[in-house]
Amino acid sequence: MPAPFSGGCLCGAIRYTCAMEPVATVQCHCRDCQRNSGSGFAIVLAVQRAAVTFQRGTPKRHTTPADSGNTVWREFCAICGCQLFAGGSANPDFCGIKASSLDDPSWVRPLGDIWTDSAQPWDYLDPALPKAPKNL
Ligand SMILES: [Zn+2]
Ligand SMILES: [Zn+2]
Repeated sequence: MPAPFSGGCLCGAIRYTCAMEPVATVQCHCRDCQRNSGSGFAIVLAVQRAAVTFQRGTPKRHTTPADSGNTVWREFCAICGCQLFAGGSANPDFCGIKASSLDDPSWVRPLGDIWTDSAQPWDYLDPALPKAPKNL
């Protein structure tokens, strides 16, 4: 995994660099990730929030309550709507970078699937990866 690595939104208004390698990479099949990914799951790279710096733009934040009682936030470009980051009150020092926003997502290696209870029947889940029915 290369670090630092960079990414940005669809329209280019937001550009970021992450200084550290991800500590974990998961495929989240929760309904919220399905809704904002446009697909069956979102691939999220967990990094320390402080490792992410912005070269251009500031993402807009949308916060929702989680089943656990914590709050979960998602950040996206206010111009093009591209999903960039997610995080929550359970782990305030960390955030998740959406793999789709990387300049080069080809090196991303998901380590497991979470929230498989809400995975879609048409979605293929790699049987070799560990599964969690809800969160880790
Ligand atoms: Zn944008
Ligand atoms: Zn999710």
